[in-house]
Amino acid sequence: MHLKKVEIQGFKSFADKTEIEFKEGITAIVGPNGSGKSNVSDAIRWVLGEQSVKTLRGSKMEDIIFSGTSKRKPLGYSEVTITFDNKNGSIPIDYTEVAVTRRMFRSGESEYYINKNSCRLKDVRELFMDTGVGKDGYSIIGQGRIDEILSTRPEDRRHIFEEAAGIVKYKTRKEEAERKLDKTEANLVRIKDLIHELS
Ligand code: ATP
Repeated sequence: MHLKKVEIQGFKSFADKTEIEFKEGITAIVGPNGSGKSNVSDAIRWVLGEQSVKTLRGSKMEDIIFSGTSKRKPLGYSEVTITFDNKNGSIPIDYTEVAVTRRMFRSGESEYYINKNSCRLKDVRELFMDTGVGKDGYSIIGQGRIDEILSTRPEDRRHIFEEAAGIVKYKTRKEEAERKLDKTEANLVRIKDLIHELS
């Protein structure tokens, strides 16, 4: 799996549609301080479903939409698309190329698309689970993250290894199943109470 392209429009400092292509090998993004280098990695995190404004270095989610300059009006929405090469099938979907899009309006609502088909955030999360790419995946290492990993609690650090080992998917499914089981048990208790009342 290889990240081929990032398309950004209306996200932070990227008012105009900007396309960044990542060829095979190493790509470096260089530029003066404050020119928007970190905004590119923020855009990648955001499209993968990041919900924490702190992680995205803002104070509210609206901060990620281009807020205007002395010469340009603010924009009404932000849209980011990232495209992966999936010829080796490491993303569990029947496409050799996978494009994920997130669009957000000032009202705060986000829309997600996988290969232009509307989907839920949950679908995006599940698609990338255990690939290392998700918003919490180990493939995006931001400034200070190494220190954070080293100083974090062992239980939190374990999560990184679990993602690399490919078991997060199963753990999440187990948690979902346990939640359903709890709900069903609660319903059963209710039904028993009702039967008791009626008899
Ligand atoms: P450094 O090298 O200092 O880390 P950088 O190149 O990584 O800098 P970023 O932090 O990515 O720069 O970008 C910061 C710039 O993005 C600032 O100029 C800021 O004004 C601009 N910016 C952030 N959010 C918005 C927004 N919503 N609308 C317009 N511009 C924004």
